[in-house]
Amino acid sequence: MARLGKAAAVVAAVLTAVLAVSWTASAKPAVTGVRAYDHGTKTRFVLDLNESVPFRVFTLADPYRVVVDLPELDWTAAQAGLRKAIGPIRDFRYGLFKPGNARLVLDLADATSVKKAFVLPPGEGAGWRFVLDLVGTSRDAFLREQGLPPDLVPQPKPVPTAAIPVSMTLPDRNPRAVRGKAVIIIDPGHGGVDPGAIGVSGEYEKNITLAMARELKQALDSSGRYKVVLTRNSDVFLALRDRVAKARAVGADLFVSLHADTVRSPSVRGLSVYTLSERASDAESAALAEKENKADLIAGLDLSHESPEVTNILIDLAQRESMNLSAAFAGDLVQELGRETALLGNTHRFAGFAVLKAPDIPSVLVELGYLSNPQEERLLRRRDHRAKLASALTRSIDRYFANIQRASRP
Ligand SMILES: [Zn+2]
Repeated sequence: MARLGKAAAVVAAVLTAVLAVSWTASAKPAVTGVRAYDHGTKTRFVLDLNESVPFRVFTLADPYRVVVDLPELDWTAAQAGLRKAIGPIRDFRYGLFKPGNARLVLDLADATSVKKAFVLPPGEGAGWRFVLDLVGTSRDAFLREQGLPPDLVPQPKPVPTAAIPVSMTLPDRNPRAVRGKAVIIIDPGHGGVDPGAIGVSGEYEKNITLAMARELKQALDSSGRYKVVLTRNSDVFLALRDRVAKARAVGADLFVSLHADTVRSPSVRGLSVYTLSERASDAESAALAEKENKADLIAGLDLSHESPEVTNILIDLAQRESMNLSAAFAGDLVQELGRETALLGNTHRFAGFAVLKAPDIPSVLVELGYLSNPQEERLLRRRDHRAKLASALTRSIDRYFANIQRASRP
């Protein structure tokens, strides 16, 4: 694409305009089949469709991906992934990227160039088809061609400190006494084009985390003591930094990110709780943080334009206090949740999760369990089990705020 230079930019701009119009249409175009063929010299990937769709294709490196922006499609009639790798295509994922805008991401094993991308009208016994032709290329050539279309490149922020405003005093930790209800932000991990971990029965982590978040919101709402906000309340992708930004925008007093993991060994099970630390408590936690931090890459975000994180002494101070509070909360969580479900050994662990990096909001990440363990996957799919976890989480949140109030009494 980018090889075409200016022409591609113009085409991209035109396609964006077309997309903006068609995305408001009510009936979604449907995918009726997905096919891929390895022809040796090229690999062809085909979506069978019931009508023509606008599209835009670009590639991203590290890991190698082809990203196709499409209108929201009805995908119920077609398979949601490849059963095995075909040519350089390891697998593909489809999901909402933002409302009305869906994304198809092909994960590639090697540097691969998009030779052609086009929509074929009905003919030769087939209906509408979206076709991608892929050919092998060198890493250098791939790197030259790859990148976001110009309109998707994030604009540099004018004043770096504005990105993470930190007041001259440390944040007030006793919100209820000062501002009424404490604000809790619940962050269901993954979503949309990023399914997260995939369980033994095919259940997606993104669905488990959303169901759990809604259950927890209900439990917290019914206590009447909190204002509860979800970072996402639908099957949509949300970048890690946008989750943190949302927590800051609503003035959250506590950030709870929900996840569920998979590992190779099906016998491993148990819940674990993570708080932020530059140094991971163990190799497993470091690997997990690395995996969770890849969510943005999986959805086809190009992170090379992100400015490095701004730090100054105030952020450090606020962050250190937040980290201590997060750790205290994690301790309460482990105690309460241990009464309701199996725990992983060394339940409270530390690692560098990107989603826990709000400098002034105590933040924890709960890995609810292992979707690779059949028993645990089954439990997490059950509403009564999620309700038990939600009430344990609510008890620990109650305890956390009670302790803060006690500590801030003169
Ligand atoms: Zn996750």
